[in-house]
Amino acid sequence: MTWITFLWPMVTAACITMGLIHLWIGLRQTPGTAHKLFALAAFAVAVFSVLELAMIRADSPARFLELQRWIDFVAGALVASLAAFVWVYFGTGRKWLALLAVGVTCTPLILDLLPVPKLIFLQITAVRTVETFGGATYTVAEGIRNPWHAVFYMGVLLLVVFVADASVTLWRRGARRRAVRVGGSITFFLLVAGVQAALVDGGVINAPYIVSFCYLAILMAMGVELSDDLFRSVQLAQDLHESEMRMELAADAAGVGVWIWSIQDNRIWGSERWRRLFEFSPHETVTYEQAVGRIHPDDREPVERGLQRALAERTDYAEEFRVMTPDSSERWIGVRARLSAQANATPARMRMMGAAIDITARRQLEQRIEQQRNELAHLSRINMLSELSGSLAHELNQPLGIILSNAQAAQRLIVQEPPDLAEVRDILADIVSEDERAGEVIRRMRAMLKSGPFSLQPLAINETVEEVLRLVRSDLISNGIAVHVTCAASVPQVLGDPIQLQQVLLNLILNACDAMAANSLEGRHLSIATTHGKGCVRVSVADTGCGLPAEIERVFEPFHTTKKEGLGLGLSICRSIVSAHNGRLWAQARGATASGRGATFCLELPAMERPSGEGRVASDKS
Ligand code: ADP
Repeated sequence: MTWITFLWPMVTAACITMGLIHLWIGLRQTPGTAHKLFALAAFAVAVFSVLELAMIRADSPARFLELQRWIDFVAGALVASLAAFVWVYFGTGRKWLALLAVGVTCTPLILDLLPVPKLIFLQITAVRTVETFGGATYTVAEGIRNPWHAVFYMGVLLLVVFVADASVTLWRRGARRRAVRVGGSITFFLLVAGVQAALVDGGVINAPYIVSFCYLAILMAMGVELSDDLFRSVQLAQDLHESEMRMELAADAAGVGVWIWSIQDNRIWGSERWRRLFEFSPHETVTYEQAVGRIHPDDREPVERGLQRALAERTDYAEEFRVMTPDSSERWIGVRARLSAQANATPARMRMMGAAIDITARRQLEQRIEQQRNELAHLSRINMLSELSGSLAHELNQPLGIILSNAQAAQRLIVQEPPDLAEVRDILADIVSEDERAGEVIRRMRAMLKSGPFSLQPLAINETVEEVLRLVRSDLISNGIAVHVTCAASVPQVLGDPIQLQQVLLNLILNACDAMAANSLEGRHLSIATTHGKGCVRVSVADTGCGLPAEIERVFEPFHTTKKEGLGLGLSICRSIVSAHNGRLWAQARGATASGRGATFCLELPAMERPSGEGRVASDKS
């Protein structure tokens, strides 16, 4: 046994061991491409060293040539696997250069496909055994060499250039250690192996190939780096686990339940608190359908629609909904979620991570506030109607008076001989119509007096304005106020509570009347206009009254009043009603007018998408 027969098998064994380890890792890890390519290169080096040893011992030109053929093929495979490894592992480098290097290296291998391989030797005349130190021997061949084998080495040189270029780019991107360790060693040992093999093939030196040793060095550098990566990822996994635990602890302390929905597996992972919120036991497997099943039936559809939209548009998700508890009570949950950061993943491969919080207390408080606001609004309406009572009594007295005198006239006509039945019929028709008028006044009053929950419905704002004007008509007339109404055409509908919006307008109109009380009769002008645009519908109520204080916003403060019997609550209630409609209510000075300074109050509400088609253009009445 000589050092040759000892060293080459050791290289083979080392390469096979490394190859197997990385193949195993590559098959288990995703993506494990770099490890798989490493394993391929390691197996190629193992085969290469076996062939090298066989060549060292070749005893005939034919055997030498046959081994040469196989060693050339394995060298081609090695070049290809190294190029692929660098391409995948570095993520840098020019693809065309890698393909060119592999192409130029492998094309001359066609010469080895001939019945007698011709890449290195056109002909071998003899093989002889050379003795080297330690009594070891190796075989060298003599014959006519093929000058075209230089093309093969040009390919190897191109691979060196590709690796060097990819390493420089990697260095610039900051992965310096990887660039130096892997890129540097591949470049260096490829050069050494290439030069040595070229010198042996060119017949410049007589020596066995030492290519497998150079590749072993390359493999070791690659292996060390890959193992480092592996250690780092183990460390990262540990850190991640700890950070997850810390996050869960913090989230738990903040009352937040954390969840992750893996769309592909249709599974939801949830922290303990999330499970408690959704009434799942600690170790139960939760599917998407099971989680949705816990949501209140009325809220399921909007929740699912929102989730699908977030997935399709890759946006964040936020929703508030109710979860049914085993005792059939409701728990309000607020959820915020984000899609995991795989930008080009298909919806099926995405994950959604989110936080859920119990907002039942907040919701109950909001409900109580809303209830109180409704009660306050109701009281304020009663107060306003008491202000209007004189005018309403007048509105009722008028038809009642007409009914009475018509009925008396009919009594007289009916006792005549012959009775004037045609006239009586006309009188009865008048009575019915006046009765309807009185009934309408009562209906409007009852509607305003009703106390009910806030309920939104599509409304035509021009109709609301008209309704309110009917209610205050007598008051306006008795106060000698000239009313100018300008309603825009095709005003879009708004989503609103009809009674509460009437109340707002009524409040603004009554305030305007009060503000103009000190004006002369000719100087009392009330202008009401509706306009729309930019997704909003606006109603403005302008007067020519005493005007607003310098700090305009004060009029909206609760209990701010300048009236002897005022409560100072009307405008603040109006503003809270408008806010609940997602709208705005503000006041502005009207500028100098002939009869006073005047004020304009504007009410703006979000428009619904479809125009209502109602409304008249510039109907003007006084
Ligand atoms: P109240 O009518 O009970 O005083 P409001 O909240 O409706 O309560 O009004 C608050 C105050 O705002 C009024 O007292 C008045 O000083 C002022 N104000 C309201 N509307 C007008 C207006 N159109 N012109 C001038 N001042 C107004």
